Amino acid sequence: MENSKHFIENFIDEDLKEGVYDHVQTRFPPEPNGYLHIGHAKSIILNSNMAKEYGGKFNLRFDDTNPTKEKSEFVESIKEDVKWLGADWEDRLFFASDYFDKMYEAAEKLILKGKAYVSDLSADEIKEYRGSFTEPGKNDPSRERSIEENLQLFRDMKAGKYGDGEKVLRAKIDMAAPNINMRDPVIYRVAHMTHHNTGDKWCIYPMYDFAHPLEDAFEGITHSLCTLEFEDHRPLYDWFVREVGFEMPPRQIEFAKLYLNNVVTGKRYIKKLVETGVVDGWDDPRLVSIAALRRRGFTPESIRKFVEMSGISKAQSVADYAALEYCIREDLKPSVSRMMVVLDPVKLVIDNYPEGKTEMLTVPNNQENEALGSREISFGRELYIERDDFMEEPPKKYFRLFPGNEVRLMNAYFVTATSFEKDENGNITVVHCTYDPESRGGNSPDGRKVKGTIHWVDASSAVPVTVRLYENLIDEEKANEKGSIYDENGELYLNPNSLQVCNAFAEASLKDSKAFDRFQFVRQGFFCTDCKDSKEGAPVFNRIVSLKSSFVLPKTE
Ligand code: ATP
Ligand code: MG
Repeated sequence: MENSKHFIENFIDEDLKEGVYDHVQTRFPPEPNGYLHIGHAKSIILNSNMAKEYGGKFNLRFDDTNPTKEKSEFVESIKEDVKWLGADWEDRLFFASDYFDKMYEAAEKLILKGKAYVSDLSADEIKEYRGSFTEPGKNDPSRERSIEENLQLFRDMKAGKYGDGEKVLRAKIDMAAPNINMRDPVIYRVAHMTHHNTGDKWCIYPMYDFAHPLEDAFEGITHSLCTLEFEDHRPLYDWFVREVGFEMPPRQIEFAKLYLNNVVTGKRYIKKLVETGVVDGWDDPRLVSIAALRRRGFTPESIRKFVEMSGISKAQSVADYAALEYCIREDLKPSVSRMMVVLDPVKLVIDNYPEGKTEMLTVPNNQENEALGSREISFGRELYIERDDFMEEPPKKYFRLFPGNEVRLMNAYFVTATSFEKDENGNITVVHCTYDPESRGGNSPDGRKVKGTIHWVDASSAVPVTVRLYENLIDEEKANEKGSIYDENGELYLNPNSLQVCNAFAEASLKDSKAFDRFQFVRQGFFCTDCKDSKEGAPVFNRIVSLKSSFVLPKTE
């Protein structure tokens, strides 16, 4: 990997050198309104890496100031995902809602300084008064209320004397500021709602822009790393923090979000897929929520590597899903056993093999990694092979089985196809062959060569298993042609073949695989035992990624 530092590290170095801060404190501040996705992984890994690299601390803080959309289910899933990614918050788990008292005090402080006022305008009026990029805003008629009156009204808001939307508290900054965020933003609103953490204690809630910078300040965050859309909010954040009395606001540094080409990443959009039943829950293995990636079989290491490879910068860019696939292949290639599973089985009968005989063959688990040892697999007269490994009339360059052709059964013997049987619909039901007993282990007895090697499983000990193959949820061809994954109506171009279910036969040892066990199935890809749908003795395998790759690792100087 490249050893040069990214721009955030340069800023931190500068701050430490100049004595702006003498330590580093970062945080990941999710809103618990959905599951985390691959984009969040970037933020989690960046924030926890910075803390680790500079010997600092990393907080996990739930930004739970909006009672409408938040759920405890999301809090739990987020904790699990952050932990799984290896970002350790130790004992520093915080909730913005735990600061509601302090935020309220901060708001009163602003009122007392003459820096905030209670407004009677409706949401629509506030919007109308705000002006535009080209026109300054208009002052709120309540802008010059006395401090005493404001304080009383704000206390009345808190005491429940007003209905939702009747009154708001606004910061008193500058209605003509070129940055619209500075035009007297709303900082508290009335909302008679039950909060997942504070219950019915509050009927006023702080707005995100007021709450967020204060949360960082309360926790002593030094470097508040966030995505680019918050760049314009930075002057406001600094204003709040300083006016409330913190001398040194956290330094906010913005970086570009991680996007994946032709993949649905936004929380809102994933939520819609879940709610409309296009996918089977937040952890459907076709999604890129962290829960889905984990269930599909990605490792935390592969995700960290992907995030590090995509880099940290201010320039908006889109990563390729193929790069993520590259990372998981690299991780699993040397570390998992290579098994034989036939996804679309057809019977192969070896006519000259003794009936009733079974022999055990010793095969290495992974030729690239001797430490993974070896296992015994059974071989007999009747096997299963892949339907497409036999052809009645082969095209040119087809080196697998066809009548008269000899191939190697992986780790076993050379066989030559002799004949086949068909059912009434013309489908091949059985392929017959003869084997060369001298080629045990798949070794040529006399130097003669075979061009094809195919995998198989012994029919007498094979276990029926379910194997799920995935393609992108998005119809990539369509999306590329249209230049968007959404059509005119905002609906996704969906790929009808994103899930294919195979009734496969696996070698016997796979019968007992446990949730999250990972394997290579030779010639088919890397697979993971599904944690939800597998039953004792009847595993379900998800294909994480196929073996083929079109991805080229970008050159580094
Ligand atoms: P989404 O845009 O998917 O709805 P969000 O930004 O609303 O996500 P939050 O819970 O508010 O989700 O985000 C928590 C943190 O994760 C924020 O600091 C946000 O900037 C960061 N983040 C969100 N999406 C991405 C992304 N695609 N790449 C990098 N960081 C992200
Ligand atoms: Mg958000």
